[in-house]
Amino acid sequence: MISQIIFTVIFTGSILWFFSSLKKIRDNIFLGKKVTVKGEVKERLKIMARVALGQGKMFTRPVAGLLHLIVYLGFLIVNIEMLEIVIDGVAGTHRVLSFMGGFYDFLIASFEFFAVAVIIACIVFLIRRNILKIKRFHNPEMTKWPKTDANLILIFEILLMTAFLTMNAADSLLQQLNADHYVKAGAFPFSSFLHPLFSGFDIQQLIIVERSAWWFHIIGVLLFLNYLPISKHFHIIMAFPNTYFSKLEPKTALDNLEAVTREVKLMLDPNANPYEAPASNEQPGRFGAKDVTDLNRIQLLNAYTCTECGRCTSVCPANITGKKLSPRKIMMDVRDRMEELGKHKRQHGNVDDGKALIRDYISEEEIFACTTCNACSEICPVNIDPVSIIIDLRRYLVMEESKLPQEWTTMLTNIENNGAPWQFSMNDRLNWVNE
Ligand code: SF4
Ligand code: SF4
Repeated sequence: MISQIIFTVIFTGSILWFFSSLKKIRDNIFLGKKVTVKGEVKERLKIMARVALGQGKMFTRPVAGLLHLIVYLGFLIVNIEMLEIVIDGVAGTHRVLSFMGGFYDFLIASFEFFAVAVIIACIVFLIRRNILKIKRFHNPEMTKWPKTDANLILIFEILLMTAFLTMNAADSLLQQLNADHYVKAGAFPFSSFLHPLFSGFDIQQLIIVERSAWWFHIIGVLLFLNYLPISKHFHIIMAFPNTYFSKLEPKTALDNLEAVTREVKLMLDPNANPYEAPASNEQPGRFGAKDVTDLNRIQLLNAYTCTECGRCTSVCPANITGKKLSPRKIMMDVRDRMEELGKHKRQHGNVDDGKALIRDYISEEEIFACTTCNACSEICPVNIDPVSIIIDLRRYLVMEESKLPQEWTTMLTNIENNGAPWQFSMNDRLNWVNE
């Protein structure tokens, strides 16, 4: 009875803790501007099913894709198994779902298969990250915490799966010894290889091993749940809403600034009265984005979904040619700034903290290095669009601070004066054809 009470308290506390973290994240995302998402629900659900559920974009790199699929399936399967653990924990039963008979045996055997596969996949991931030193895991933005975060979660998964197999091994031995409470149920094709480790153990010792592994496993899963919101692994959850809100227009399509569109329309309308008072008293908004509060909520959702995999940076031509830009860093900076501002607002209310995304996190050099080629958003496995953020930051610098590289100023002046980026008069532009 005592263990049921302890379990119920720990379980309820963990779930409440998780939801309070989710609320903070929701508040941080709501720092951004509201955005209207047009219909197309069916189309969006299809993208979500293909990209988030079906891992549709992971297999552009087959080895990483396959290993990731195993870990992902392992995660889903652990959740099914958790159902039984929670019921057993609260009700004091043991293997409560064993009434399913042969199907239960099949489930336990497949859980074991995935537990072993996940352990192997995590070991390979650890080797790739730490021994093979794949370049994209060692870019400058991969500082101490992002690296530790990635390794921690892999070690965590290995420990959770090992505890699961140990629990099953001890359980199956207890079943063979007809121990009280240990109903005969389940098939144990992999954990039975651990039996020699427990040779000579009596029933009491096996119960201690089984219960310790059970508690370790369940507390580990609950800790994992509460670790997710502070980790890049939060993408396990966020990939679903994020892919639902994917950009449906062609990737290269840029949105128009409403205020500018209105001005241009006014200029082109011969009947417009330029001195007419604006239709509402609304304060004119900012052009582009200086801080996270100028970005929209989907862009902020993108930042919480970033897995920091670095695929975007590995295909970014600016980064490849040695420029300072890394689209992964842009997403990490947006998330860090959002967390910082959200915390500041919770502690001090609406008082300005004197910082901004531009310059405090992202430099002008990075913003102007982007070629808007969209290679980053094309390859992103969870349909993140770093370009839209870069463009909004650039819009702010150009339109509000008149900051742009000297070469661009010359080019724009030429376009304005000569109708082309070159320093030739319009009449001489085609002279090269006759040479
Ligand atoms: S759009 Fe910009 S950030 Fe993205 S890959 Fe191209 S140059 Fe890099
Ligand atoms: S933006 Fe996408 S591709 Fe780039 S690091 Fe994040 S998840 Fe990976």
